[in-house]
Amino acid sequence: MSDDNQLPPELVWEKNGDGEEHLSEIVLATIADGQVSIVPEVAFTHLQWCEGCVRAIGESAMLSARVDSCLNEWAAEAVQHERAKARVSLAPPLPVPWFAVAAALAAAALAAIPSLEGAPLWFHESCRVVIHALPALVHGVVTIAHGGASAPLAVSYASAALLMVMGIGIAMRNSANVRMEAQGR
Ligand SMILES: [Zn+2]
Repeated sequence: MSDDNQLPPELVWEKNGDGEEHLSEIVLATIADGQVSIVPEVAFTHLQWCEGCVRAIGESAMLSARVDSCLNEWAAEAVQHERAKARVSLAPPLPVPWFAVAAALAAAALAAIPSLEGAPLWFHESCRVVIHALPALVHGVVTIAHGGASAPLAVSYASAALLMVMGIGIAMRNSANVRMEAQGR
């Protein structure tokens, strides 16, 4: 009994070198892939006695499994690659310019040291610089976290640099005041 959805007889059989009819490579590959519903019953009848075709199906199935495994590996790599790309484009790492922030605070603190005798004052001044700088720093970090683009990062670096300059300026002016007061006394 033939079925319209099954392979036609001319695709089922192939003659070998001795003129014997055996299952075609199409049928062997189809059975190896597990698509048995489109293979006519006569092909399975042939497989009940033909060792050559059974062995050929086994080889085809192994080849198919190897191809599947390679395809799966390629697919997994492609998916990983796409995920990595998606991570980069959708959720970029949020680089906080901690180096610039730390450099700004350290420079402000160091510049605030006018002399040893002014220690209590420079400590007080550097604390003031830090306290004044904190809101700006927090604002910069929040801006980066929300934006995540390169423009906010550049702004943050620029504000960190500006903070450093301001810190140095404030500290130098205060230490100059301290020296002037010391000379005036
Ligand atoms: Zn055969």
